[in-house]
Amino acid sequence: KSGFVAILGRPNVGKSTFLNHVMGQKIAIMSDKPQTTRNKIQGIYTTNKEQIVFIDTPGIHKPHNALGDFMVQSAYSTLRECDVVLFMVAADEPRSTGENMIIERLKKAEVPVILVVNKIDKVHPDALFETVADYTSQMDFAEVIPISALQGNNTERLLEVLSAKL
Ligand code: GDP
Ligand code: MG
Repeated sequence: KSGFVAILGRPNVGKSTFLNHVMGQKIAIMSDKPQTTRNKIQGIYTTNKEQIVFIDTPGIHKPHNALGDFMVQSAYSTLRECDVVLFMVAADEPRSTGENMIIERLKKAEVPVILVVNKIDKVHPDALFETVADYTSQMDFAEVIPISALQGNNTERLLEVLSAKL
């Protein structure tokens, strides 16, 4: 199995921490080279069963302006070309305008969107429940996976779910 996974989320939610954790476990290629001007390969997770290419989607969370238009169009293209979207949010922070912008775009995605609620190590289970309820009231997600990218909690489960969607 192989496929492309776009990771979306505003800065600081833990995207890099997640990728570093995943890439640290398995032999992987980390690349700084842009695949195209719009897609950037962040890492390739390879096992004997699957190959998952993680790609960044720059610009999708940024406010609209003249310079940002190209980036927003590019992010749209990435959404069309990938097989699964990971939408990462932080469990310890309320939904912001950055997340709302991403949600508006994700509603038009034609591929499964997985909500990844990161930093569960920082919150009480009740707060996690509230965060999940808030996001799932905004749109339908194919799956909701709580993780701690820092501690590696539930990241294996996320990889299993991702693999199953490819
Ligand atoms: P990015 O901007 O989305 O790539 O976010 P980073 O991966 O750079 O993480 C931003 C900050 O959040 C860093 O200080 C990380 O150590 C921290 N962080 C990321 N994941 C977790 C987590 O699961 N738990 C906690 N407590 N901190 C985290
Ligand atoms: Mg980062």
